[in-house]
Amino acid sequence: MNILIVLAHPEPQSMNAAMFTTAIETLRAAGHEVKTSNLYAMRFNPVSDQGNFTKLQNTTFYKQQLEELHATATGSFAADIESEQQKVEWCDLMIWQFPLWWFSVPGILKGWVDRVFAMGRFYGEGRLYEQGVFKNKKALLSLTTGGREEAYLKGGLQGDIHNMLKPIHRGMLRFTGFHVLRPQIIYGPARQSPAMRDRELDQWRNRLVEVFNEAPVEIGTY
Ligand SMILES: Cc1cc2nc3c(=O)[nH]c(=O)nc-3n(C[C@H](O)[C@H](O)[C@H](O)COP(=O)(O)OP(=O)(O)OC[C@H]3O[C@@H](n4cnc5c(N)ncnc54)[C@H](O)[C@@H]3O)c2cc1C
Repeated sequence: MNILIVLAHPEPQSMNAAMFTTAIETLRAAGHEVKTSNLYAMRFNPVSDQGNFTKLQNTTFYKQQLEELHATATGSFAADIESEQQKVEWCDLMIWQFPLWWFSVPGILKGWVDRVFAMGRFYGEGRLYEQGVFKNKKALLSLTTGGREEAYLKGGLQGDIHNMLKPIHRGMLRFTGFHVLRPQIIYGPARQSPAMRDRELDQWRNRLVEVFNEAPVEIGTY
């Protein structure tokens, strides 16, 4: 199968980078094709504006979604967007590896979505959710937190983490048709002992070997 792994972490020695490398190695060893988007290493530009396109339909008033429809019809997405769109279209499973920042994805990953998930190309004209463009694909969020697990339970200090992930799971992934797998969450890796972090990496390895046998989850109910 084809897997795209997107990493949004600036430090190559971080736990997120270790999860990213582990996933690449494990999935390739299992015989899968893997492509990656290491957003900081690529210096991916997260600013969504007129630069998303090689030519504009309307040069006097910028309306992004209309320009996206035009670029879809005329093949005029900027090269950095086009190549990311092709990777998403190519994959059967997309994994996002990121640290939770302000209860959400880091800005560089949000900017990647803002620019790459274009109207016309990835959604629109009734092609949403069950009829979404990516209805034959799966997606998996793999993330780390600073806080402890008990803080992210229902009624915990920070609140239920699954509610935090809902806008990503539903608004970005299900919206465009992806079937969502259970998120992989490491709570507070910086607080863990090296042995605990090794165990987290082992659990990730074991999960990935069987990942194509997993059933998607109903968002918010797992
Ligand atoms: C802007 C911002 C906003 C934030 N918002 C939130 C928030 O809303 N909620 C929240 O909970 N937290 C928040 N945080 C904290 C953040 O989520 C955590 O710092 C992050 O998730 C920890 O993951 P990491 O990969 O950066 O860990 P690191 O600190 O890089 O890694 C932890 C440890 O793992 C070790 N390690 C690396 N590779 C391996 C390996 N192969 N084997 C074993 N150990 C290894 C590292 O050496 C390190 O000691 C925020 C942080 C920032 C900067």
